[in-house]
Amino acid sequence: MTDKIIPIADIRYAARVPHIPARLQAPTGMLADTLARPLHDLRISVTDRCNFRCSYCMPSEVFNKDYAFLPQTSLLSFEEITRLTKIFVAHGVEKIRLTGGEPLLRKHLEVLIGMLAQLKTPQGKPLDITLTTNGSLLVKKAQALKDAGLQRVTVSLDALDDAVFRRMNDVDFPVADVLKGIEVAHKVGLAPIKVNMVVKRGTNDAEILPMARHFRHSGVVLRFIEYMDVGATNGWRMDEVMPSAEVIDRLQQEFALDAIDPNYLGETAERWRYTDGGGEIGVISSVTKAFCGDCNRARLSTEGKLFLCLFAHQGHDLRALLRDSHYSDEQISGAVAHIWQRRDDRYSELRAALPPDVAVPGAEGNKRVEMSYIGG
Ligand code: SAM
Ligand code: SF4
Ligand code: SF4
Repeated sequence: MTDKIIPIADIRYAARVPHIPARLQAPTGMLADTLARPLHDLRISVTDRCNFRCSYCMPSEVFNKDYAFLPQTSLLSFEEITRLTKIFVAHGVEKIRLTGGEPLLRKHLEVLIGMLAQLKTPQGKPLDITLTTNGSLLVKKAQALKDAGLQRVTVSLDALDDAVFRRMNDVDFPVADVLKGIEVAHKVGLAPIKVNMVVKRGTNDAEILPMARHFRHSGVVLRFIEYMDVGATNGWRMDEVMPSAEVIDRLQQEFALDAIDPNYLGETAERWRYTDGGGEIGVISSVTKAFCGDCNRARLSTEGKLFLCLFAHQGHDLRALLRDSHYSDEQISGAVAHIWQRRDDRYSELRAALPPDVAVPGAEGNKRVEMSYIGG
């Protein structure tokens, strides 16, 4: 059966210009939202374009040759991204994830990485900089990324079987090239590498065990992600979600696994270890076990809008402040603090608490932003 495609409501330009508070608080590195969640991670989307058309993210029926991607002038420049990142770091951000779209399509990305790698936390520590990629360009770019200061990569890979993989990326891209990219990334020291597999029941769940067998004893941490109802175009259905508990059951039919503690508060993955020392795996249960309580992530869209939740339908237009010479860094910093201190988003928790046919209040259904726009 083919997925039902809902036409995209183009809401990319719906955003509020942030309020600049009259009294500017100096950043303390300890900003908390209304639910006492700190601002710790910043995900930066560097392009809304991609060379894949994964149906759960950028279905080709919508993201086709007529789709209007953002023009170059809309994109934040590397200088603008660095200026904003500095402001976020003063408020407590320690971890940066570059994403997209496909981040490696952004020209000279290593230059941006080099600029971000110069920044330090208020305690003088370097930032934890990572990147999520479909892996298609890693063979070419891994060394330059590493040299520029990138520490790790997360590679998205949904199947080992070439036919299943080509079908899922929908551009006939061979799995061997992504595997080669992972190998090169490993060789240049972009480690530990994480591999993310979105599990769609009936599409690639038969790949769970082959993927686990392949990455055991390799040093790669394989993580299984529940298929999410993000965006408005992927025709999401609950019956295509394979709950993480079921993924773990399947794995346990073949392997002995022990649950292990999270690395840090707010870690999205639940971690497991092969009892025989074969390494680690993780599951990310965004649908069946919402983790909004610890969500410390902000997202910056390709054109500089700040989103406080993956399921938000409106952003805060920081680019409007950046491109107006009247505003100083202190004022932009004050605006960011004002926004985060009012944050109350917890979409997944609210949705989990409601019957499936009842919409989350305030969540404007098919007006939600696409993941390729705000970044995963
Ligand atoms: N193109 C890069 C990639 O695929 O890694 C980075 C951007 S992509 C939007 C980031 C992550 O979001 C990927 O791991 C992808 O699998 C995940 N993703 C996209 N749509 C999803 C959905 N509907 N449910 C769960 N994960 C999704
Ligand atoms: Fe592209 Fe990544 Fe989305 Fe796939 S998941 S379409 S690779 S942005
Ligand atoms: Fe964070 Fe929103 Fe996801 Fe909850 S639904 S974990 S608040 S991004």
